[in-house]
Order: sequence, then structure tokens, then C-alpha cells
Amino acid sequence: MLQQTIRHLVTRLFAGQPSGPLRLSHSQHGIDRRLVSRHAIKVCEVLQQQGYDAYVVGGAVRDLIIGLAPKDFDVATNATPAQIRPLFRRARIIGRRFQLVHVVFGQEIIETSTFRAPSATGQPTDEHGRILRDNEFGTHEEDAARRDFTINALYYDPLKEEVIDFHHGVADLKNRVVRIIGDPETRYREDPVRMLRAMRFKAKLGARIDPATEAPITRLAPLIAHVPASRLFDETLKLLSCGHAMDCLRELQRAGLTRNLIPIIEQVLAEDRDAAFVEMALSRTDARVRAGKAVSPGFLFAALLWRPVHRRWQEQVAHGVQRNEALINAADAVMEEQLQALAIQRRHQADMRDIWLMQARFERATLRTIWRMVEQPRFRAAVDFLQLRAEAREVDSVLAQWWMDLANSSHEQRTQMIEAWQAGHAGGRKAGSGTSARRRRRPSRRKAGTAAQAAEDASPAHASGARDGSPH
Ligand code: ATP
Ligand code: MG
Repeated sequence: MLQQTIRHLVTRLFAGQPSGPLRLSHSQHGIDRRLVSRHAIKVCEVLQQQGYDAYVVGGAVRDLIIGLAPKDFDVATNATPAQIRPLFRRARIIGRRFQLVHVVFGQEIIETSTFRAPSATGQPTDEHGRILRDNEFGTHEEDAARRDFTINALYYDPLKEEVIDFHHGVADLKNRVVRIIGDPETRYREDPVRMLRAMRFKAKLGARIDPATEAPITRLAPLIAHVPASRLFDETLKLLSCGHAMDCLRELQRAGLTRNLIPIIEQVLAEDRDAAFVEMALSRTDARVRAGKAVSPGFLFAALLWRPVHRRWQEQVAHGVQRNEALINAADAVMEEQLQALAIQRRHQADMRDIWLMQARFERATLRTIWRMVEQPRFRAAVDFLQLRAEAREVDSVLAQWWMDLANSSHEQRTQMIEAWQAGHAGGRKAGSGTSARRRRRPSRRKAGTAAQAAEDASPAHASGARDGSPH
């Protein structure tokens, strides 16, 4: 009892709350009910029919108010998981520490969780104040207070078409302000990931971060290092696939947050040409996100870290290391450096390596390796990556296009393309050379005519009138 009273006081103190929440009608919040998942509405309806409170909550309400289509829908309720589950045909309780219910409707899952209490004094934390357990049920008001930002603490009742707003989140949303609930430093110490989330919502909403919310971030940025790797990876990925990746990256850098996530990126962003490569890659990612397409984490990280890999690769080659081996060494070194900060899941690491290592083979293909490459599962991704490099003028665009055409072809077309390539090869011509007006024939030191040679011939170091003067 005493504990509850203290918690209540703490909640109020943190939240600095007036007596009751705002209740906003349709004309005040403007949510178009047609954009709300009918399954989320169904979950609320069933729970309310049983006498419980139930609301759509979090990111979905935020997005709906500003007219974005939400990615997914969460429901918050005062019913416990054991009370929720039997009300639905396909529902399962998940989570060990804090249980919640997944209500399944075909492809869509409505995550339904019981109101939770915020951290109270006495709750276990690590030595930096990070909350280790957060698993007590709470009241509606407490549930709002434990959420991160005012714009994320909004509850929408789809039946009454009413938004319940304990922390003036709708006003902040309309003014595009990201404001943390409670004392900023305490909240970042409890969960340092909130600093990353602040950056993400700023970029995603084109908002500003309230000064008091922003002030401690640079100082507390090192706390990120204590967050479990898997959560950090998830949040970083969300940052980079929020549709405004470059803005996010620059924000992170400014706040000193990249140091603990993607340390190498600091060097990358400091070099104009390297930064341009990342910018280009991320703008493609953003375009995919905005078109509702999936983004491959392996491809994304491969692009972010590529320029340091490329540089080390070239350095090793200049020192006489064989090209493939040099690329493997460079990839290993950069990957290892990265993994000391942010663990990237193994399957994504495997994607990154394959995408990188195939780059050397594009430039030194033989008849046998072409067919082997075509059959590799990451061939397509590696070809897309080559395209990116061509756009950055790192490789010849004709070469990149030849591989792209190959990737887009049927088996028969591929056979024809490769036969034509082989004929050119036998005659001393290079892959893609038939289509290049720019290409000049020059005597080759090696056996003439590999696709790689074509790239080299057209690369800045070899072509007349080098296009960017870089030491390729
Ligand atoms: P997105 O559009 O990326 O899904 P979101 O706000 O829905 O954004 P989620 O990670 O899905 O983000 O979280 C759902 C809700 O849970 C948030 O809106 C917020 O209310 C709460 N929440 C999430 N992470 C935290 C956190 N670290 N601290 C406090 N509350 C959080
Ligand atoms: Mg969400």
C-alpha cells in the first residue's frame, strides 16, 4: 500500500501532471477511423464489451493524428493477459517477465498489453540507473507516465473516437515537439535507448527536440554502451529504416551517439566522398521505405561500412596483396571494429560479407565464376550494390549495367549474354564493351578481356580524362 502511494507520488512528480487527462473529440484530434486497423478496433470492442478499458496506443495514434499510415497497431487495456486470451480465437501469451498477448488475425497481429506501472524508487537498476525489471501492472495513468515521449503516450478509443492525453502529447505533436515524459536524465538513465528514439522521432516527424529533453543527451550518450546488443541493433535498424536515414545519422553523430553504435561512420562522414556514398545508399533505402518495400539490414550495413572496406582493400592491393585476399582482410578488419560496438546478427553479417566479397569477383569474372555467382542467393543484392558503386563512380557504369542486365534476365537470356561475353573475351573484348561508346581498347598486361579488366580500363586511373581523380 505504502509502496503504491509512493509510486503514485513519484509518477505525479515525474509527470508534473494536472489532475486529469485531456479527452479530445474527433474534431480536435482528426483521426480518420478508416485508417485504423479493423482488427485493432475489434480487439478494443471485445474487451470493452467485457467491461474493460481498451485503447489503441503508442506509435499508431501518433501516426494517425499526423495522417501517416501506422506500421502496426498496439492495444493497451486494464485486462490482464489471462483475462484477455480466452476472449479471442487465436491469441497467445508471450514474454516471460512482462507478459502480453498477441491476438492474431491472419497476417496481422495486434499486440495487446496490460497497463504497466512506471519505474518506482527501489526497483532494480544497474549502476548507471538502467532499469532491469519493468514488470508491474499499473493504472491507465501510470501506463501513460512510463511511456517515453508525450507524443507516444496517447490512447485512442476507436469506439468513442476519443483520444485520451495525459501529457499534452497532441499539442506537442501538432507543434512537432519531441518531449520526454518526466525528468530527462532519469528517463535516459533508466533506458538509454530513449536517446536514440528521440533522434528517430525528430527525423521522422520533422520535429524539434524540446531543449530540456535534448540537453543531457550528449553527456549521457556513453550509457548506450550498457544496453543489451540485440535491443541496440533493433533500434539502430529502426533509425536507419525510418525513411529519413541520413538525417538520423547526422543527428546521432552530432549528439555523439554514433561512437557507440557505428564508430567507423565518424570517419566516413568526415570524408566528403565517403559521406556522399553513404548519403546515396541511404537515400535509396529511404525511397524503398517510403514505397512500402522491405529494407535488407545486411545491405544497409554493407553500404554504411563499405568505404572503409574499400579503402583498406585498395591499400592492401597497393602493397601487393592478391585482390580477393585483400578484400577478405579488409572486410574482416572493418567488421571486427564494428562488432566491438554494435553486434550485428550473424545472418546479416553473412549477407554483408557476401555482398562485399562479390565486388572483387565482378571485376575479375571468368566464365566459371559468372555462373557460380549467378546462383548465389545474394547475387541480386551484390549487383544492386555494384550499381551503387557505379553511381559513386567507383566502378564503370557499363560494367555495372551488364551485371544488372544479367541479374534481370531469364536463364536463356543469361546464356546468350554470357556466350556473347565469352565471344568478346576470346576476341580480346571485355564484358559490356559492345554497348560502351566510351570504352577504348588498350593492350592488356594480363590475358585480355575479363569483366574486371573492363572495369579497370574504364576506372579513373586508366581512362583518359579521369572522372574524379581518385586513387582507385
Ligand atoms: P514505431 O512507429 O517505430 O513503431 P512506436 O512509438 O510505436 O514507433 P514501438 O517501439 O513500437 O515504437 O513502441 C510502442 C510504444 O511503446 C511507444 O509509442 C511508447 O509509448 C512505448 N515505448 C517504446 N519504447 C519505449 C521506451 N524505451 N521507453 C518508454 N516507452 C517506450
Ligand atoms: Mg510501434
